Amino acid sequence: MTQTYENYIGGEWTGSESGETQDVTNPADESDIVSTVPVSSTAETDEAVAAAVDATDEWAGMPGPERGAILRETGEILKSQKDELAETLTREEGKPLGEAEGEVQRAIDIFYYYAEKARDFGGTVKQPSGGRAGLQTKKEPMGVAALITPWNYPIAIPAWKIAPALAVGNTVVIKPAMQAPTVGAKIIEALDEAGIPDGAINLVCGPGSEVGERLTTHDDVDVVSFTGSASVGEHVYDQATNNGKRAQAEMGGKNPTVVMPSADVDKAADIVGAGAFGGTGQACTATSRAIVHEDVYDEFLDAVVDYAESLEIGNGLERAGMGPHVSEDELAGSLEYIDIAQDEGATLETGGEELTGGEYDAGNFISPAVFSDVEPDMRIAQEEVFGPVLAVIPVSDFDEGVEVANDIDYGLSASVVTEKIEEENEFIERSESGVVKVNEKTTGLELHVPFGGLKRSSTNTYREQGDAGLEFFSYIKTVYRNS
Ligand code: NAD
Repeated sequence: MTQTYENYIGGEWTGSESGETQDVTNPADESDIVSTVPVSSTAETDEAVAAAVDATDEWAGMPGPERGAILRETGEILKSQKDELAETLTREEGKPLGEAEGEVQRAIDIFYYYAEKARDFGGTVKQPSGGRAGLQTKKEPMGVAALITPWNYPIAIPAWKIAPALAVGNTVVIKPAMQAPTVGAKIIEALDEAGIPDGAINLVCGPGSEVGERLTTHDDVDVVSFTGSASVGEHVYDQATNNGKRAQAEMGGKNPTVVMPSADVDKAADIVGAGAFGGTGQACTATSRAIVHEDVYDEFLDAVVDYAESLEIGNGLERAGMGPHVSEDELAGSLEYIDIAQDEGATLETGGEELTGGEYDAGNFISPAVFSDVEPDMRIAQEEVFGPVLAVIPVSDFDEGVEVANDIDYGLSASVVTEKIEEENEFIERSESGVVKVNEKTTGLELHVPFGGLKRSSTNTYREQGDAGLEFFSYIKTVYRNS
């Protein structure tokens, strides 16, 4: 069934001024049109920002528990639609239904979590130095928040930006990625049904080059939260901060798992395989480098190749082990890197082929690729591919493993697989990444702890999720009381 969505501005669903629309198609089956959304420009963006400005006093002035009640009700509405949301997510983004169900549950939990936080975001009471009656801090909303999101977690990422922004009392304009805007629009529908005041949440669908650009430069936008690629994120961050806004940009990764000889090699291959090929490798935290001690290199390589070859590839609605790339462009990007890696001298052990014939002809399918003989300075070991492509790099000891893991422009998530506590501790100390894991895959995050990266993975100004999510969307006011 094709769903039609419009922009949501000032509490009304409205089309784009031009009347132009875009079909969102299923990457596993191009004949399946998931939704139709408007293609908007700066005019609609300006209207949405104006609506958000108008709603600021009402929303910020509402007591926190009342804002929280709307967020909780939003979570309840999403929960009641969980199966339908997961199916829509799989249809527009491609990930297998089980992964989509997990992502939808995460969005529901995020709304529950920030519903409670809206009641109490802290503040401190301090001992005054002189004879004053009081010295304290309190948190205030920033104002209008512009949220720009990618397609790869199309419900979780909008949720983890919208919920904390609203909890603190900001009004919001969100621009989702045009490859997968539908489940994000369903959050807006749920907020509307939950009774959010007109203008407190606004949705504008359109290209980043117009809607996104406008949001990062508009005088009435106070904060910009972006998640997406490093090249776009760096531009967004520079533009937003040059225009006087608080900004955060969470960007790409090239995440390593270091495998040491003390590890159970089959367990290590399962950890790396799940991290590399889950979500078709289209996760910012996907494992794209296995850095493996030479003593277990051959054994590990065999095991991870077996893992890749055991994955059933197909339509996520049929609970395949791995779904398609989200778009033809993304598929072409992976295939290009597979050629580059071979030209550089890496050995393609398995996969890396566009799948054709039968149901594959209707979608953007590729077999998961494993490369051996990868040198740390090859492009396949340095650049984000954003597909199911794993580089396996040999090292001769733990120190070299850590150095190779760190010798990169990105620093989002890193893990080590070892049975030695000294190696665990040293890896945690020395890893140059925002998230460090021991005996776990690099993907998968809890919602109540901070998330963000170092180097080109993040502007590293603020973190997202947990209490850190609230910090970004609020400022601290210090109150001297001499009453
Ligand atoms: P992208 O950078 O192409 O697009 C992200 C968003 O920015 C989209 O909504 C897009 O329309 C918008 N945009 C594009 N040009 C813009 C401009 N000039 N001004 C303002 N907005 C603009 O990224 P993508 O392909 O949607 O997502 C994949 C990327 O996201 C990968 O690099 C991945 O690693 C990264 N990602 C990072 C995290 C994280 O938390 N660090 C999470 C998920 C994805």
